[in-house]
Amino acid sequence: MAFITWAYASGWSQTQRDPGLFFWHQLIAVTGVLGLLMAAPKVAFQALVMLLVFSTDGFLAPRRTSFWMTWSRTLIAIALAVYWVGPQMRMTTDTLIGQFLTVGTMLGAVVRCSVLVTYFRSMQYRLSASNEKLAIALKQIEDLARNDDLTGIANRRGIMERLQQCINTARRSNTPFCIALLDIDFFKQVNDRYGHEGGDKVLRAFGQLLSSQIRAADHVGRYGGEEFLLVLCDTEASQAKVLLERIRERTESLPWSQMLHKELRVTCTLGAAQYRQGETAEALISRADVAMYKGKATGRNRVVLA
Ligand code: GH3
Ligand code: MG
Ligand code: MG
Repeated sequence: MAFITWAYASGWSQTQRDPGLFFWHQLIAVTGVLGLLMAAPKVAFQALVMLLVFSTDGFLAPRRTSFWMTWSRTLIAIALAVYWVGPQMRMTTDTLIGQFLTVGTMLGAVVRCSVLVTYFRSMQYRLSASNEKLAIALKQIEDLARNDDLTGIANRRGIMERLQQCINTARRSNTPFCIALLDIDFFKQVNDRYGHEGGDKVLRAFGQLLSSQIRAADHVGRYGGEEFLLVLCDTEASQAKVLLERIRERTESLPWSQMLHKELRVTCTLGAAQYRQGETAEALISRADVAMYKGKATGRNRVVLA
């Protein structure tokens, strides 16, 4: 015990491959008990109980093999001890002091086992509590990874996942759906005139506007910079055109001048495309992008269908 205590207190145990010192614990305890058994076979019962109790420490074994080795070694040691000093072995219950010794040893074994069990239970509770916390943290991280900090709507990763889900559904059920790329017109000027913070304010308001205009089944995300992506599930191009036209009008008529500056005007150009069977997400977005640039080239503040 003195050696083990010293090993922990001095930090020597930390330099070992197994800082729990399983091997040293077992070596010292088992050698000690076997020594006692050989030297005083009259207290064999007590010694054997102690041997069993030390073997319950097997759960601390760093490897599964050491766990099994602990128990087989205990059994072999008991068999050999019984073979060598068997005839002298006693259960000391023929004197009062011997009876005390026997009951005391059993009591010690019971106390030790209850301590082990209590320790295990508390570890179990702590483990499940920290697992719960971990699951909550993981959920938060997953949400963060899919959300845009500035606007609060989905970020590129989030909206691309939605788009892929929509493509998978469309492939299975052959339902039509549309996407639209929206780009704020002359946004660089907003930044130049009202500062980056002013630009951020416009982006946030635009994100909110988009979220409020789409249906529950549709998705919106910030695709990058001042570009947004809409995924309109179960929607034909003609229906999409109506919705996008409304978004374009709402953007134009939002009371921007009250937000930053009386001369602030914000419009956006929208390029939309209907999904074609078998098409990849990239190809679909690329068609919407071409349509959007056509809108930019032909005067901005308009909806163009691919
Ligand atoms: P166009 O009508 O052709 O789209 O012109 P534009 O000025 O909007 O286009 P451009 O792509 O040249 O400018 C986009 C600007 O958006 C440039 C960049 O500084 C700004 N921007 C990108 N991300 C952010 C952001 O998170 N916050 C702010 N404030 N500005 C951003
Ligand atoms: Mg742009
Ligand atoms: Mg722009």
